Amino acid sequence: MDRGFVLKDYGSIKLYEIPSFNKTGLVRHGFTTRIGGVGAKPYDTLNLAFHVGDNPETVTANREKVCRLFGTRLEAVVSAQQVHGVNVAVVDDRHAGCGAFSEETAIPDTDGIVTARPGLLLATFYADCVPIFILDPLNKVIGSVHAGWKGTAARVGARAIEIMEDTFNSDPGRCLVGIGPSIGPCCYEVDEQVIGAFRSEFDWWQEILWPVTSEKSRLDLWKANLKILLEAGIDPDNVELAHMCSCCNQNLFFSYRGSRGNTGRMGAIIMLAP
Ligand SMILES: [Zn+2]
Repeated sequence: MDRGFVLKDYGSIKLYEIPSFNKTGLVRHGFTTRIGGVGAKPYDTLNLAFHVGDNPETVTANREKVCRLFGTRLEAVVSAQQVHGVNVAVVDDRHAGCGAFSEETAIPDTDGIVTARPGLLLATFYADCVPIFILDPLNKVIGSVHAGWKGTAARVGARAIEIMEDTFNSDPGRCLVGIGPSIGPCCYEVDEQVIGAFRSEFDWWQEILWPVTSEKSRLDLWKANLKILLEAGIDPDNVELAHMCSCCNQNLFFSYRGSRGNTGRMGAIIMLAP
């Protein structure tokens, strides 16, 4: 049985996909790597984000390439100005094209996007932060959530599930979830500010933080997000974890930590099949 995420090769572009999502036949989805684009260092090569200083024409060319792979056009993209917050937007056809051609037109102040509209290509962007894919196969609803340490501490994944319940009557126990490639506990050393935020927010903070010095600990954002999603009612049998560290695998992934902030972004892409 295929578990976790699998790397699929589409010629130049490669995608990490979740077999359980594919099995439903309801979605096209994937997490891009840094491979297969046209960008130059330090954005080599498939940077999909406008806000990181890359040439906008290069970003647009990369995005068009990904859209073609998904059988759609840039006009179908919906993206957000991610701020490490807890806001989740429910989007429909009126949002088509938001953030597709520039950062300015992306949905402001938003780290999660949910829709029940087929054909909208939800796109969120990453270099170490945790991408969470959500699919309610019964009501045909999808969600995409960007969770760095701040969003994780604020339970942004649970917020998206809650919004799907309230808006579309989704049953968390029947939703499928994928926690994608992102910085792992192997590489994510954090300081007192971050440690304090998790210690005050979660009874189980000792399960996700390991002291390395008197001031620093390693943080497991994968397990933290998993636990938050299970507390929100997700069935552990319906969760897939990539267990791929973006910082350990910089041949495949952009890593904010690994590049000291000067790098591109991968995309978590999901669309209900039109
Ligand atoms: Zn690592």
